[in-house]
Amino acid sequence: MKLFVLYTGYLETDSGGIIAGSSGQIRLPILCFLIQTDQHNVLFDTGCHPNAMAGRWSPKITGSFRLVQQPQERLENQLALCGVSPEQIDTVVLSHMHFDHTGGLYLFPEAKVYAPKADFTAAQVRVRINPDPFTHGGYCKADLDQSGNVYTLLDTDFSLLPGIDVVQLPGHTPGLMGLIVHLKNQVILLPQDCVYTSANYGPPVRRTGSAFCWTSYHASIEKLRRLQQQTGGRIIFSHDFTDFLSLKRAPEFYQ
Ligand SMILES: [Zn+2]
Repeated sequence: MKLFVLYTGYLETDSGGIIAGSSGQIRLPILCFLIQTDQHNVLFDTGCHPNAMAGRWSPKITGSFRLVQQPQERLENQLALCGVSPEQIDTVVLSHMHFDHTGGLYLFPEAKVYAPKADFTAAQVRVRINPDPFTHGGYCKADLDQSGNVYTLLDTDFSLLPGIDVVQLPGHTPGLMGLIVHLKNQVILLPQDCVYTSANYGPPVRRTGSAFCWTSYHASIEKLRRLQQQTGGRIIFSHDFTDFLSLKRAPEFYQ
């Protein structure tokens, strides 16, 4: 089994939204992960839509986040570095339904998609109950209109494939899923927006600017900490540029 880190550009935003109490601008890498087994190509998260800044995202989102993505950082080009075409992705796991995780879903109309039940439901209701995108928070209706996929909505921990575990880590959003990948030589934990950066992880835990539920946010980070201690694994932080610079990037891989 191989794990590839796919870098799909970065977001620039107010640091206070990422680490509460901080100030200035911060750059957030947008990471997706390809996990290759003998029989499957599993993609974890799909990044931002390449037309995000050209009308795909609402002014509410672009007012707070600026996507910077070079052509070679588009998801299909990152997959090509691994020798994989979008058609070869049979399984997509979405950590949650925010705009920087669902934007590439259009590339995989045939894939089976796993998503967190509570967040999928909340997102679909939120973008449909009121047409004004200013009420949609971090959800992009155009991404959520993507249809044709067969979805499996999860609300419990789940063994996706041998060596690939889905864990429920809500708090940032009503539902959120991380992956634990048991490679031959190491365990890698991918909590995505459960914990943006190593500064948020602590200890002590530092909050983000906002969250769906702080009780769940803290409980999920402590669940992650227990899993990290039990497995001795490495956490890859979803939006931590310093951590990102220490990673092997596609076409290199972890095994
Ligand atoms: Zn998010």
